[in-house]
Amino acid sequence: MSLAPPVNPYRALPATEALRRHPDLAPWVTELGPDLVLPWIRQALDAARAAIAQGHPSPTLEDLIAQVRQAIESHLLLRLRGVINATGVVLHTNLGRAPLSRAARAALVQAAQGYTNLEYDLARGRRGHRGRGLAALLAAVTGAEDGLVVNNNAAAVMLILRGLAARRRVLIARTQLIEIGGGFRIPAILQQSGAKLVEVGTTNKVRLSDYEAALQQQPIALVLWVHRSNFRIVGFHEEPDLPALAALAQRHGVPLVADVGSGALLDTTRYGLPPEPTVQQALAAGADLVAFSGDKLLGGPQAGLIVGRRRWVQRLARHPLMRALRVDKLTLAALEATLQHYLRDEAEREVPVWAMLSARPEVLRARATAWQQATGLGTVQATQSAVGGGSLPAATLPSAAWVLATAHPHRLARALRVRPTLPIVARVAQGRVWLDPRTVLPEHDAEVARAVAEAWAQGE
Ligand SMILES: *Cc1c(COP(=O)(O)O)cnc(C)c1O
Repeated sequence: MSLAPPVNPYRALPATEALRRHPDLAPWVTELGPDLVLPWIRQALDAARAAIAQGHPSPTLEDLIAQVRQAIESHLLLRLRGVINATGVVLHTNLGRAPLSRAARAALVQAAQGYTNLEYDLARGRRGHRGRGLAALLAAVTGAEDGLVVNNNAAAVMLILRGLAARRRVLIARTQLIEIGGGFRIPAILQQSGAKLVEVGTTNKVRLSDYEAALQQQPIALVLWVHRSNFRIVGFHEEPDLPALAALAQRHGVPLVADVGSGALLDTTRYGLPPEPTVQQALAAGADLVAFSGDKLLGGPQAGLIVGRRRWVQRLARHPLMRALRVDKLTLAALEATLQHYLRDEAEREVPVWAMLSARPEVLRARATAWQQATGLGTVQATQSAVGGGSLPAATLPSAAWVLATAHPHRLARALRVRPTLPIVARVAQGRVWLDPRTVLPEHDAEVARAVAEAWAQGE
């Protein structure tokens, strides 16, 4: 009669070092450094010991590695990191909207590296004003008298309402009481600003006479016009245009404020897109102030810009709330560099958002084909890219995508997202993975092909 010697399940656990050196963890060790990987390994081993103490068998090496990988992925992927956007959505709010131009990136680094003249007047050798240079640049680019920058467009609208209409009445059409993504609701912003909302017209029809009647009935601080950025009204619809509204407001001595949203400085129809109100058009129409985002169609960093009559801009610049909404030197540096591209008439080439929007379908097809040929995987198919970012809701641009058919498309898409270096976000549709080159920076083309080949090899 013989008894097998008792196996000590604790002894079967691998050493910490053996896990750290395991090839499956190598990419994470390279990306994060060996010290940052260690706590996740210890945690997995502690969990294994606790399980053994409760009578469970010792986990296999593969199980432990999988646990460590999953823990690292789920926790450390939360840290802010650069990703490759292969979704074809140019202004992807979840992916940080606009990528910056080369010059904007360089300006940002330079401002970060050392000291700047942020609030210093170099000519006089004494305290200066933050954002003065930007105001001049904004004026030059848009034709406005003056300009101001705050944290984002939501803050710009808030500052305008608070600064010019607190405890007073603001007129707005019922067709424009919209919600932009991220919980920006015009009625809520009005309420928070302390302004009183006066709605005119109906949800589909608003006439100039509706505005006129409201202006005659009560004192009004300002008329607010909001671009319906992310949806469209079709059918039985009417609304006075901006020039007519501006003329009416002017007759009543009330400022007209236009929130144009995406901040297009170029004409979108030149690129086969529907028209988007440009900042210059809104000013030319007679708006006293125009508010827009820095990181939508302007193609710069997150910011809110206000341009228009000096009198109102200066009133806002001196408002106490301005101190809470002001931007830092990094934003200013990137914004100035972005606006310079428009001044030099080189935005289409240099501002990535416009380079992407103006990319020709045959060029995109050639890039997708190069991915396909480099790997021998998938096919190239026609698709549509979207503008996104609450701009041009129904508009799409013809493109070509690299399409991968697999039994587990979500698994492949996940593998591309959780890779340690440069995660890739692709689209899953019709049971396939789609990669649209329009939103992939050309310098990442080789990385995309390599990553897909690797993920494919691991998955099959
Ligand atoms: C996007 C948008 C906003 C909000 O802009 P943020 O820069 O994201 O704060 C406000 N108004 C309109 C009309 C918009 O399209």
